[in-house]
Amino acid sequence: MQADAPLAPWIAAQRAALLAQRGHAWLLQGPSGLGQYALGLALVRAWLCDTPGEHGACGQCASCHAIDVRTHADLCVLMPETQMIALGWPLSEKAQAEIDDKKRKASREIRVEAMRDAVEFSQRTSARGRGKAVLVYPAEQMNTVTANALLKTLEEPPGDVRFVLASEAAHQLLPTIRSRCLGHTMAWPSDAESLAWLQQQGVAADAAQAHLRAAGGRPDDALALARGGRSPAAWALLPKALARGDATALADWAPAQAIDALQKLCHDLLARAAGAPPRYFAEADLPPAPPLLALSRWAQALARSARTAEHPFNTGLMLEALVAQAHHTLHLGSQSRREGASHRP
Ligand SMILES: [Zn+2]
Repeated sequence: MQADAPLAPWIAAQRAALLAQRGHAWLLQGPSGLGQYALGLALVRAWLCDTPGEHGACGQCASCHAIDVRTHADLCVLMPETQMIALGWPLSEKAQAEIDDKKRKASREIRVEAMRDAVEFSQRTSARGRGKAVLVYPAEQMNTVTANALLKTLEEPPGDVRFVLASEAAHQLLPTIRSRCLGHTMAWPSDAESLAWLQQQGVAADAAQAHLRAAGGRPDDALALARGGRSPAAWALLPKALARGDATALADWAPAQAIDALQKLCHDLLARAAGAPPRYFAEADLPPAPPLLALSRWAQALARSARTAEHPFNTGLMLEALVAQAHHTLHLGSQSRREGASHRP
């Protein structure tokens, strides 16, 4: 069983601020990689702790232990099954049996059955007598049916149950869900705080800097890049490899990650075309920017690809097409630069 990582200082500060306020339903919102899940779990841990302190859960009591080993009777965790598995939370017996028997694959959204269990859970009496908590993450993975089921419970909470909805795309939630929760916008740590934290997690200083840049300043994403074994040097070389049409540039990437990287490159070239500094790549690693129209067409095509990336028809073909598209767009940049140069007196 994986232990939960120690809380980053900026998450601990937000936990203290939220614990000081009343509220039976929090919506933690902000872009991915800012620690919504860590903060959500820290909140429910503190709520359910037998001897909570000013700074959250004690970490020693039976309740804290039950959360550490993922078997707390008064905590209901609502996540897509793929996410539950990745974070070490057990599925319901029925769901686990269906997946074990290969009747279906683990679901990528929050299932209606899981939501029904959660509604039933919130109507039961607290087992340990310190109330109950429901943690939903990522909350935008609820479809309309599951969101409406949750809404009823949020509107008429059965008393001793509290909710944390942790979201990386809160704009996708039903407005009626958002309006039932107290909103908290996740704080961005400074680069210095993030770098210190990444080094505490065992990432070397220069790699931490490079990964943090590739992650656009989001520390959790930077740590995931470091742990995923992605080399910072390969990231720096990626734009020019794509400009050359190097077919191996994305060869070992999952489609969703490849599209994310291409979107970051497209973002930086658009930023530069607008006279702004790049965010994800170093200035020197970028190829000449293609015309704006070509970049905006590329951005639209990438957004369309992102919607199908979870279920690619054929991963190899999709990656090849992505490289070809990047090559075509970036080629227009070097072409227009050459033309520009030849027109100079
Ligand atoms: Zn405790």
